[in-house]
Parts: sequence; C-alpha cells; structure tokens
Amino acid sequence: MTTLATASHPASTAPAGFIEKAPLERYVPPARPSLVGLARAELMEALAGIGVPEGKRRMRAQQIWSWLYVRGVTGFDQMTSLSKELRAVLDAHFTLARPDVVAEQTSVDGTRKWLLRLPGERPGEAPHEVECVYIPDTDRGTLCLSSQVGCTLTCSFCHTGTQRLVRNLTAGEIVGQIMVARDRLGDWTAAQSGTGQPGTGQPGSGRRLVTNIVMMGMGEPLYNFEAVRDAILVVADNEGLGISKRRITLSTSGVVPNIVRAGDEIGSMLAISLHAVTDQLRDELVPINRKYPIRVLMEACRNYPGLSNSKRITFEYVMLKGVNDQLADAHALVKLVRNIPAKINLIPFNPWPGTRYECSDWAQIEKFSEVVFTAGYASPVRTPRGRDILAACGQLKSASEKLSARERLALRAMAMTDD
Ligand code: SAH
Ligand code: SF4
Repeated sequence: MTTLATASHPASTAPAGFIEKAPLERYVPPARPSLVGLARAELMEALAGIGVPEGKRRMRAQQIWSWLYVRGVTGFDQMTSLSKELRAVLDAHFTLARPDVVAEQTSVDGTRKWLLRLPGERPGEAPHEVECVYIPDTDRGTLCLSSQVGCTLTCSFCHTGTQRLVRNLTAGEIVGQIMVARDRLGDWTAAQSGTGQPGTGQPGSGRRLVTNIVMMGMGEPLYNFEAVRDAILVVADNEGLGISKRRITLSTSGVVPNIVRAGDEIGSMLAISLHAVTDQLRDELVPINRKYPIRVLMEACRNYPGLSNSKRITFEYVMLKGVNDQLADAHALVKLVRNIPAKINLIPFNPWPGTRYECSDWAQIEKFSEVVFTAGYASPVRTPRGRDILAACGQLKSASEKLSARERLALRAMAMTDD
C-alpha cells in the first residue's frame, strides 16, 4: 500500500533521492484497527476473522457498510440492525475511529480547515498531522484531501514540498478525512445521523454539503497510488459516501506511469499541475519533469480514457510573477493542450514565508487569462480561498512546523488586501 514509485519505476535514470524523497515511516496498524475506509470485500474478510459464518458475511458487511458510509455512525452500539452479541464482538476487535481533529479553523470566506492527527508508528513517537480543507460554494462544497504526510516531491513554489515525506496515508486515513468533514459539518443522511446532531446541510432537503473531492492537499497522490485508488473506489460507491468519480479530481504533478494506471484503475477526473510550458522552466518548478518531461506527460494526458467535452483534463497553472506569466507563455500553453479536451485553471500564487516567488500582478493575470479565453478555453482564475488560515493550495504544512503568530498575521493581511 505504501509502494514508492522510485521502486516501481526502475527504468528511471534520475539519481535516487534526487527528485523523490523516501518516506521516513511506514504505517503500523493498531491492535484494534478501524473499519473506516474498508471496501466491502475487506469488511467481509474482517467478519471472517471474528468468526461470522460464511453464509452471513455478505449481508452483515452490507449492513455495516451502510451504517458506516451512509449514516456515519461513530460507535458499534448505534448499529441497531446487528445483534448485541455481534456488536460486542466487533467492538472487541475493531473501532470506527477517524483521524483525530486537533484544531479547526474557519476563514473569513467560510473555508474550514481541520488539522488532523494520525497515530505515530512507534510507541512514544509524536503523532503526525495533516490538513483537510472544506471550501463551500453556492452550488457545491469541495473537500480538499491530503494523501501523504509531507510530499514525495520538491516543487520549488510549494510550501508542502519543503517538508519531508513522513509517510503515506492509508486508504482509511484518506476516507477518514471525508468522515471527519461530514461529522463536523453535520453532513450525514439526516435523521439517522450517527452523531446525534441535526445536520446543518438542510436535513431532509437532500442537499449535501460535501459534494466534490479534490486530491489537492498535502502530498502527491500518484506516489501513494494503491491507497488513493482504494479510497476513491470506496468514496465513489453510490450506495455509500456516494460522491461520483465525476466529482472527484485527482491532481498530480505528472507521475506519468501512474496516470496510465489511474485511467485504468480509478477513472476519476484528472488535474495536471503543469505550471510551465518549457522543460527548462518546468524542470525547476516541478522537478519531476526531469523524469517525465512535458512531451511524455502530454501524451499520457491525450491517452487518458474517456475524455470528452464533458470529461476534460484540468491543467493547473500557477501565476508566478516574471517567471511563467508572459503572454508568450499563454500562447504556448494553449498550443500545448490543443487536441486534448481541457480546462485551464489559472491559480494565483499563494505566498508563504520564505518563498522566493511572488504572485503575478492582477492585470497580468487578466491579460494572460484573456489569451487563454480567446483560444477557446474558459479560464477561471481560481480565487484563493482560506488564505487567512493558510488553507490555500500549496500552503498546507503540518502544524509540527507551525508558523509563528507574526507570519500568520502577515498572511492574513495579504489575504485581506488581495481578495
Ligand atoms: N501534489 C499534487 C496535488 C497537491 S498540490 C500536485 O502537485 O498536483 C495542489 C495544487 O496546488 C497543485 O496544482 C500545485 O501545483 C498547487 N500549488 C502548490 N503550491 C502552490 C502555491 N504556493 N500557490 C498556488 N498553488 C500552489
Ligand atoms: Fe508535492 Fe504537489 Fe507540492 Fe509538488 S505541488 S511539492 S507534488 S504537493
């Protein structure tokens, strides 16, 4: 589950450890593991392990699945369709634990960020922390999930990239982020909500708060492939958490072999962190480009299955002042994505303390966007959300490397003046 792509792509000519970091830790399951994140087949295996007779396993697994992913219960005692005996045996062997919420912050724009704690691997070791961000909008609510503690890669404009790769998240920890968000937002199926609290998502209206998922938090999802795949398949099941693959976007810096696998084994929407139109610049901004250069990346995109006008690849392009924001870059960008059903997402650079980059001037972003628009692409400029709580793209970093209060204030000031 925690295979590193350095190991899975021996054909690479890049020196080991140059582009990718090796994880410091590996997940060690606790004595009483959580059922959160398990697929149906895994639930059946878990039931086999505690002696549920074969003939009953499928039905019991289905019941537990529904309590878990439709109603969001947090204790076995709430699974009232199971016998008391079975509930007690389940409780003796498993939990329904999600990642612990250590802190919750709400931005002036309604964005919410949760700092989540994951257990450390060795007794006495400090726990790990990741962040998960909820971005409400008029017609949707998007949850931005993390896939790793830290990141395998070292993109030069990204705050997370400066952090060491501590470890890959498990599928349960990835699904657990959604469970936490639904718990905190009261976003479980109303009335039966396992939290016992009324949903704030207009219970009864059928309107959900978490409608979309983006794998755009900490980490490179395609360097934690199996866990991300397994999590997405659980999340997309329409008899459970029910967020369809069309509403799940996996963002990658361009791990080409795993883009191919994602097409075959996941089938979610894809976003590519392009950010530069020449290999020379992309090698610097997104160093994995040295391993999988632009031509190879675009080829993988062209071959991504199922592309159409309604299923397009999103190309993300961060606007860095004087670095990649010239109009010639905009022209080259549209040329590059020609023949691929594409959306282009311009992202104003989110500054972080110590970065050497600045965000392009607004006037320049508009001119750039105009070129992209004239070429026939809607080019929404992604409004930075949650800047005051450091929840915007590329600003996520564990609180273990917390910013000082002064740095936070400086960022809040930026958020106030820029928005
Ligand atoms: N590792 C994956 C997903 C997480 S990053 C990836 O790189 O795609 C999510 C998006 O935020 C990526 O497009 C990334 O390039 C962008 N990003 C990173 N740092 C940023 C920053 N400081 N300002 C704006 N966008 C940033
Ligand atoms: Fe990792 Fe993505 Fe940041 Fe690059 S942009 S360092 S791949 S999180």
